Amino acid sequence: MKTTRLNKKIADAGITSRRKADKLIEEGRVYVNDKLVTELGLQVTDKDRVTVDGIQLTKEEPVHILYYKPTGEISAAEDDKKRDTVIDAFHDIDARLYPVGRLDYDTSGLLLVTNDGEFTQLMTHPKFEMKKTYRVKTDGILLRHQQDEMRRGIKLDDGKTAPCDLKVIRDKGGKDMILEITIHEGRNRQVRRMFEHFGLNVTKLTRIRFDFLTLDGLKEGEYRFLKPHEVKKLI
Ligand code: URA
Repeated sequence: MKTTRLNKKIADAGITSRRKADKLIEEGRVYVNDKLVTELGLQVTDKDRVTVDGIQLTKEEPVHILYYKPTGEISAAEDDKKRDTVIDAFHDIDARLYPVGRLDYDTSGLLLVTNDGEFTQLMTHPKFEMKKTYRVKTDGILLRHQQDEMRRGIKLDDGKTAPCDLKVIRDKGGKDMILEITIHEGRNRQVRRMFEHFGLNVTKLTRIRFDFLTLDGLKEGEYRFLKPHEVKKLI
């Protein structure tokens, strides 16, 4: 009978990525046939009964959604402060959905939502360098030499940023500026911190592109299912 590594089985059930599944195993939250498992490489078959936090895994059909996140929603499946989450938009879809990576509460734009742990792993792992483009409005001007510095990479408190693409979309001379920045890293609040490095506040931040995917045809709060050929192209 075909065997599968335990972390893959957990990821395939839509619970989380393979990497995070390993963490669940290490934390003693996973049982196979009622026996606690802490060994990471264990192989299981379809006959084995796997539970996480006491809930038995069932394999769900993978779902991949492109969501136009509005501001004012948390990128998580649940929030302990009971704020709106991005998953609230999908209460009529019967799958354990969660966001792929995160956008800040005050950031809008393109967010992938899925129950597919393998897909999440591929979209978020730094080695795959998925490109993300953000439209940024600032409360001041990023000077030419500062733009060049940002393109080359700047030192933030968690290390130097990788080279990025930066385009000026609107510069009204003085007050504010609109730019588009494309990065492939996914550090916490990265774009905001890159502008803060030059003393600028980001007053509006929208992710407009993820790899080849755009927000075309969607309004804030709307979503669409990815087509099979789009999922294939991404992975
Ligand atoms: N960079 C940020 O600063 N915030 C986001 O939400 C995404 C990228």
